[in-house]
Amino acid sequence: MTSSIARKPQDTLKLLYEISREFNSALDLRTVLQRVLLLTMKNIGANSGSMIVVDEHGEPVESAIIHGSNILDQTTQQLRATTERGLAGWVLKYREAVLMTDTSKDERWLRRPDDDVSRTGPKSAISAPLLSRDNLVGVITLVNANPGQFNEAHLSLVKAIADQAGIAVLNARLYSESQRQARVMAALAETASVINASLDFDDVLQRIAAQTKQALNVQAVSLALCDPEDEAQLIFRAVIGGAGARLQEYRLPLGRGIAGWVAQHGEAVLVPNAHADPRFDLETERRTGYHTRAIACAPIQLEERVIGILEAINPTNAGFGRDTLLVLDGICNLASNAISHAQLFSRLQAAHQRYHDLFNDSFSPIIITDLQGNILEVNRQTVVLSHYPIETLHQMTIFQLHQVNFTHLGESLENLKAGHRTIAYESNMRTCDGDEIPVQVLCRVVSIEGQASIQWVLRDITERKNIDKLRNDLISMVYHDLRSPLANIISSLDVLRSMLPEDDAIESVMQIAIRSTERIQRLTNSLLDVHRLESGNPIVTQEIVGLLGLVNEALDAVYLMAESRHQTLEVEIPEQIPALYVDSDMIRRVFINLLDNAIKYTPNNGRIRIEAQQDGEWVQVSVIDTGFGIPESEQELIFHKFTRLHNREGSKGLGLGLTFCRLAVEGHGGRIWVKSKPEVGSRFSITLPVAPSDTMFSPSRT
Ligand code: ADP
Repeated sequence: MTSSIARKPQDTLKLLYEISREFNSALDLRTVLQRVLLLTMKNIGANSGSMIVVDEHGEPVESAIIHGSNILDQTTQQLRATTERGLAGWVLKYREAVLMTDTSKDERWLRRPDDDVSRTGPKSAISAPLLSRDNLVGVITLVNANPGQFNEAHLSLVKAIADQAGIAVLNARLYSESQRQARVMAALAETASVINASLDFDDVLQRIAAQTKQALNVQAVSLALCDPEDEAQLIFRAVIGGAGARLQEYRLPLGRGIAGWVAQHGEAVLVPNAHADPRFDLETERRTGYHTRAIACAPIQLEERVIGILEAINPTNAGFGRDTLLVLDGICNLASNAISHAQLFSRLQAAHQRYHDLFNDSFSPIIITDLQGNILEVNRQTVVLSHYPIETLHQMTIFQLHQVNFTHLGESLENLKAGHRTIAYESNMRTCDGDEIPVQVLCRVVSIEGQASIQWVLRDITERKNIDKLRNDLISMVYHDLRSPLANIISSLDVLRSMLPEDDAIESVMQIAIRSTERIQRLTNSLLDVHRLESGNPIVTQEIVGLLGLVNEALDAVYLMAESRHQTLEVEIPEQIPALYVDSDMIRRVFINLLDNAIKYTPNNGRIRIEAQQDGEWVQVSVIDTGFGIPESEQELIFHKFTRLHNREGSKGLGLGLTFCRLAVEGHGGRIWVKSKPEVGSRFSITLPVAPSDTMFSPSRT
């Protein structure tokens, strides 16, 4: 007699409800399978049954097998036989439910010894696939010891249960997958937090290796990086366990051994039996004496470039788990970030150190203050020069250390803060012993670690000051000691000239003597003017004078020199040019200086021209030559004292001529500038004040 054929619909519903409750209980999968199987067996009247769960490859991963009231354990081997052959195997293969009323008459039934007629004989069976959204997750099989015990109604019920089981198993599988992922994520998160806790390069490598060892539960871990100097070599930088120190700094060419293969191919590998793998490098093993069974190795990549490898050796348990490569890859990703950060950091630190060394070793004292002038940092030279202990300096302000030039910087340093330019001035540094050291101060606002600060460079200019003083002493000595003898020579020469008979030969010798002494006199006068004008003395000897007259007198002084060089001298001054209001002796010397330079720095056969034009209250006069010219970078400098450029003619000079011109012209309120092009020529221009209309014109000077 068949069991429970006519079930009431509410019974079926009740059963399905109970089964769904079982599936929703938070028990482990095996227990749930057993309970559901037992319930199903009871409800359809089966004596034995099985529920087998398979993975995505059809491999059995979990099962419940019940015989009568016994729960059996089957080995993986036995389960595999069931799922590969027999009824369950057929169902898994064709994904179709089967109702078998007599097992002895169906080929799909896997005959076992006890199926013999003399033993249990023919049986009834039902088998249905556990499917969920087209995913095959297992099979349920129910057997009654007698044939003809199951019908379509049983089959439908089993199918309904199988459908529920399918969903539940899939959910459980997804859950365990997500659990697995959570475990992997947790391992990686822990690794990340440990390795990111340091920026020290070697420490980071050690941490990566230690974390890998812990996360993968292996005996040894090695981390090797490509040699930055020779990318075809790996260098073992962190080795934990296993060969340990013997492998540290070991070099392995790319392509050799499993590590070398991974670095070359940029692919992770899992090698369960290292000695059976042709890539395995016996040589390294022989060297280190450490026996390798299994290796998992993954590349460390940065922007698609392999920068190293990480390998885990000899799992402590039976073998590597299925997550090994997943975890190893994850750690490699973290490692590449951590390594690149640590590398950047150590480069930054090296750069920082370099700047700090430069700062410290600078020959000049350098002081960093905040915007209020409180000293934040000083270099070694500040301590050396100021004699203050570094701790004291850190308590001081920049104002205590030197006389700040508030005219340049602004009362509250606003000029300095306004623009990001360097402001320079000369001052004195006050030392701890109360001495004053002359310094040139260069200061500017800089940003240090995002904070606006002021950098003060105090250049010791004691030597320069001494030389300047020596020069000035020398100049004043020359001037004072030469002035009166020179005046005597000139007046004597004048007297002599009037007493001598008219003779061309004597006249020309006299001329040379007179011109040379006049030249010396001009030089001494200019030296005195430089001295006076630099001290800020105003020009008080201005008079009205005609430009042309001055220019002609200047030309008179230089024409012989131009003639000897076959140079032409041209003058282009409009007739209506107004009279000037100047110190005529001084401005004549300015013209002589400009003409003298033009002649000196122009090759033979060149041309020199003087032009003039009125510009409102000013007359602009230019001396133009076709000479060697002056490079743009030097054009500002030549107006400074003692500046001489490297002249190819080897011409001699003091580098004072243009300084005098500048001081003289500026003393008149005018300007001086140069426009020049190397190998083309120069144009020196000055502006001089026009005589006011109500001043008296001095006719003797026209
Ligand atoms: P000095 O002529 O005594 O060297 P200056 O102050 O007159 O000193 O000139 C400074 C420098 O400027 C000169 O050494 C020379 O190199 C350059 N210089 C002046 N005038 C000219 C010029 N017309 N052409 C080329 N270089 C010039």
